[in-house]
Amino acid sequence: MTSTKKVRQVLPRPARFNMVGDGFRVYNYFPNGYPIREQFSPFLMLDFNPEHDFGPSARPRGVDVHPHKGFETVTIAYKGHVAHHDSTGNSGVIHPGDVQWMTAGDGILHKEYHETEFSKTGGPFEMVQLWVNLPAKDKSAPAGYQSIQSSDMGVFKLPEDKGEVRVIAGEMNGVKGPAKTHTPIHMYDMRLNEGAELTWTIPEQFSSALLVVEGDGEVNGSAFKKHDFVFFSNEGEKMELKTKDKCTLLFLAGEPIHEPIAQYGPFVMNTMQEIQRAIEEFNSGKFGHLD
Ligand code: MN
Repeated sequence: MTSTKKVRQVLPRPARFNMVGDGFRVYNYFPNGYPIREQFSPFLMLDFNPEHDFGPSARPRGVDVHPHKGFETVTIAYKGHVAHHDSTGNSGVIHPGDVQWMTAGDGILHKEYHETEFSKTGGPFEMVQLWVNLPAKDKSAPAGYQSIQSSDMGVFKLPEDKGEVRVIAGEMNGVKGPAKTHTPIHMYDMRLNEGAELTWTIPEQFSSALLVVEGDGEVNGSAFKKHDFVFFSNEGEKMELKTKDKCTLLFLAGEPIHEPIAQYGPFVMNTMQEIQRAIEEFNSGKFGHLD
C-alpha cells in the first residue's frame, strides 16, 4: 500500500527580490531564500520572477554574456518572451509555455534578454529559472540545449475540463515529457481549474516540491497559496492535490545525486580543484566566444 508523501514545510515567498542583470526581478527560493539545497538534490537553485511589467524599453533588458559549467539551466516562460544567444552559435526565443533546457556541461557562454519586440511594448513578464545538477560523469557533457516548445509537452488532461498537466520531463500517470535528462526527473507545468482533484505517485527517495505560481489549494493535506513553495519529505509516494481556484503550479521531483557540491558562482563541480580548473578554462577562452 502506498502512503501519502509527507509535506516537510510550506515556505512562503522569500521577503526580498534581487535583480539578475536588469531584466529578471527574481525571488531566490533556494539556496539563498531557504537553505534546503542539501535535501533537494538534484536541484541547485530556483529563481522565480513573479508577474511584473518592466515597461517599454528600446534597449532590451536582461543579463549580458556570462559562463556556466557543470550543470543545467532550465528556463520556464509563463508570460513574456526571452531571447538567448550562446557560444555554441545557437540562439532562440522562449515564448510563454515553452521551456529551454540548457546543458552547460563542459562550459558555455550565453546571454539572456527580453525579446526585442516584447521589450518595445513591455507587458507582463513571468519566468522561472532552475539549476539542475549533473552527476560527475556528465559534468563534461558537450554544451547545448533542448528547445522545448509548448506544443511538444506531454499532456495529461483532467476529466470535466478541470485543466491539464503539461509534462516537461519524466512522466505522470503514463504521460511522458519530451525533456532528456541525465538523472531521473519529473517536472510538470500544471494548469488547473477551480475544484480540480488529481493524484499521482513519486518514488519515496526522490526530492520533490511544488511552486505555486498562481492560485490556492491543498496538497497532501496542507493548504497552499500563491507563491508558496511546498517542500515534501522523503516519506510516502502518493500525491493528492485539490485546487480551490484556478492554479498554475510547477511540480519538481528528482532522484538525488549523492555527490559533493563545489560551487563558485556559475560553476558547479564536485571539488575545489575542479572549480579552479573551470576558472582557468574560462579565463583562457575555452568556453568559446560570444559578443
Ligand atoms: Mn545564465
